Amino acid sequence: MHPPVVPGDPPAVVRIPTGEERRASRQRLDRARAAHWGWKARRGRIASLLGTLLLVPLTAACRERAPAVHTFSTIHMDTVVEVTLVDAERQRAESLAHEVFAVFARIEAEMSRYQAASTVSAINARAGGPDWTPISPALETVLRESLRIAALSGGAFDPTLAEVNRLWAFDEGGHIPDPQALAAAVSHADWHALQIAAGQARLTKAGSGIDLGGIAKGYAVDAAADLLVARGVSGAIVKAGGDMRLIGHRPNGGPWRIGVQHPRNPDGLLEVFRTTDCAVASSGDYERYFVVDGVRYHHIIVPTTGLPAMGCQGVTVVTDRAMTADGLATAAFVLGPEAGLDLLRRAGAREAIVVDRSGVVHHLAHTTDDAPPAVRPPG
Ligand code: ADP
Ligand code: MG
Repeated sequence: MHPPVVPGDPPAVVRIPTGEERRASRQRLDRARAAHWGWKARRGRIASLLGTLLLVPLTAACRERAPAVHTFSTIHMDTVVEVTLVDAERQRAESLAHEVFAVFARIEAEMSRYQAASTVSAINARAGGPDWTPISPALETVLRESLRIAALSGGAFDPTLAEVNRLWAFDEGGHIPDPQALAAAVSHADWHALQIAAGQARLTKAGSGIDLGGIAKGYAVDAAADLLVARGVSGAIVKAGGDMRLIGHRPNGGPWRIGVQHPRNPDGLLEVFRTTDCAVASSGDYERYFVVDGVRYHHIIVPTTGLPAMGCQGVTVVTDRAMTADGLATAAFVLGPEAGLDLLRRAGAREAIVVDRSGVVHHLAHTTDDAPPAVRPPG
């Protein structure tokens, strides 16, 4: 039995949240849970476990009459997952939101390296051994796309950084790892060690481990968005952290308006554009980071060094699929502005915005005149 769900405010502009906003959302969700269950809700892993059980409003706003847009949010994959539905009857919107959150729960249970019972954990536990682990078509899709983006980016995207990421522990606030342990973990990570055969996968190198933190959220957004399209919704947004899929239209019939977060100004939007029926993903050094001696250490890692990538502040990518946009945004961030934009061009991204380390904004320049004008200025 689900607890009561109330709609949030319809978004005027869909913004990509900063770390601060994400923390605030989490606290709001924790408070709502505590109020609902009478528990003292705790942050972190417990919150994300509870997230599978609960839906709570994005804002405190509660309406008597059903609005044309319903927004629901919860926590999965250690981030805020939000679904916005247009023109759906209130009851139906709520049941669709439950379906969407169930999709996230299922994918997280399969692809999280934090869950001991996940398929990814099973593959990781056998790393270096001869045994294959059976994988679902969903996981096979994500692993194959990970390897495609790894190859396309010359290894800047590496889905085998589990041990390196574990040492940085950004999911628990983060700390600088012991240099020797980090060097060992870097030497073990190698995307070439990830082998996929039909319906099964394995890691051929001991000490390597799969971490799909840079791409699985995008896949889950796609799976949820595909479900809503199959259900015939006229307009929707599915958003998990910085990854989103836009479907159809706003209640007024126009395209969605997307605000790109300014990496250094939580109150400011870098730009606002209009678009729909596509995916938008952002990677930034403002989401999960800590500062020591004036240096910002964040969660997007250069696989060859094991250290945070320093070339960019933020990357936003527009493509058809959120899985691809998610992986490409992470890869481009690692490569830095020039090589990153080159990758995004080669990968056929519709649009991209890269903020370099000095705060200078670069756009993907389409090389042909007939490039799709996927993104239009606000209006
Ligand atoms: P977020 O998860 O905050 O939306 P990203 O999509 O950029 O941000 O993914 C960052 C996550 O990807 C990290 O938390 C880690 O799990 C993983 N990761 C970090 N560096 C890399 C990399 N070079 N290649 C692939 N995955 C990475
Ligand atoms: Mg990513």
